[in-house]
Amino acid sequence: MLLRSLLTAGAVVAFTGGAAAQADLDARIAREMPSLLSTYKQLHQTPELSEHEEKTSAFIAGELRALGFTVTEHLGRYANPAQPGYGVAGVLKNGPGPTVLFRAELDALPVVEETGLPYASTVTTTNADGQKVGVMHACGHDIHMTSFIGSARILAADKAEWSGTLIMLGQPAEETGTGAAALLRDNLYQRVGQPNYVLSVHDLSDGEAGLIGYAPGFAMANIDAVDITVRGVGGHGAMPDHTKDPIVLSAQIVMALQTIVSREISPLDPTVITVGSIHGGAKRNVIPDDVKMQLTVRTYKKEIREKVLAAIARTAKGLADAAGVPADRLPIVTVSATEHNDALYNDPALTKRLAAVWEKALGKDHVRQIDPQMVSEDVGALGLDGKIPVLQFRVGVVAPEQVKASIASGTPLPALHSSRFAPVPEPTLTASIKATTVAILDLLRR
Ligand SMILES: [Zn+2]
Ligand SMILES: [Zn+2]
Repeated sequence: MLLRSLLTAGAVVAFTGGAAAQADLDARIAREMPSLLSTYKQLHQTPELSEHEEKTSAFIAGELRALGFTVTEHLGRYANPAQPGYGVAGVLKNGPGPTVLFRAELDALPVVEETGLPYASTVTTTNADGQKVGVMHACGHDIHMTSFIGSARILAADKAEWSGTLIMLGQPAEETGTGAAALLRDNLYQRVGQPNYVLSVHDLSDGEAGLIGYAPGFAMANIDAVDITVRGVGGHGAMPDHTKDPIVLSAQIVMALQTIVSREISPLDPTVITVGSIHGGAKRNVIPDDVKMQLTVRTYKKEIREKVLAAIARTAKGLADAAGVPADRLPIVTVSATEHNDALYNDPALTKRLAAVWEKALGKDHVRQIDPQMVSEDVGALGLDGKIPVLQFRVGVVAPEQVKASIASGTPLPALHSSRFAPVPEPTLTASIKATTVAILDLLRR
């Protein structure tokens, strides 16, 4: 009832002059907020690592079930078949129309929280390597889940306002890049239905709370994990002529890899090659047999990804050849099959449509096109390689005065994954719930 005037004659028309409808939606969100704030703090204090989201998943399942969603739990099949899946999907069928899937991530990070907040996490656990680690929602997935619950409550209560099918998906293991793939491997869409649209929200660590940001087209990058073992022929540090030194060769390879970006790839195709780890040798006067390097490679387009990966292997092997390394000792270059995320491509038409909806619902001052980034997200995989339009929008989480102070002083704000990342719950949650709700209502309008 209360949202009817938002939607009659098409949302875009209704929003104009729909001050009463706006006030209704605002009042509705405000009514839910005390309970949502306590949910947020509870989620923040009980974070779970990727692939271990057991309690979080059960909590989301309970919330969705109470709202009348048909819930499927334990979704996700990992490369390791012994690893349980904690994906959860709630389906609400509400007459004819398209299907919208809204996804939130369930997992947290191995970070010791240093925000000093009264509801800071003190959780510790043991990681896969047997080390004791802190656990923190340092990427704001607790904000996403709380917003997800808020929108689910409003949409489930106001079924007269929309027609179609709503799938609310709690995705495990976003931070390890394994969750979306695990859900698809477990036949997610055969089990809960294939959506016509995939939406999700992510916080923006340098955006003002209340701001909605969007980036049409490529918004986040393909990520590849490349390992290079540079092999030489070891020997005495004082007799280099008797060796093939893999340390000197590795230094040449590190520098030459940057030339791939600057000389082989168009400047209009953003590409990053970072050698984040390099290890070789144990003593100053011993030339070792090998050096190991770990790279992260970021690209947008598929063809650029393939070109860059081929150039990395060619460069490493070509330089080894030039150094006179024997043919059976050339570098071993491997690209991980599992540590990979596809780029996030925000469907431009969907982005344009929803940006207009948000401008009407939140006001032009609170909606902004933002720059794409070379970080990575696995929500794009849920679009099945471009078959289903995907849009991940962003929500600012920082008090406006802090954003101003950061710009004035040049001191960056705590980024995502920082131990000091502390989103302000309000008006972040209100903006996120409002943007999510009006987006879904527009896609499922009667
Ligand atoms: Zn993250
Ligand atoms: Zn995240």
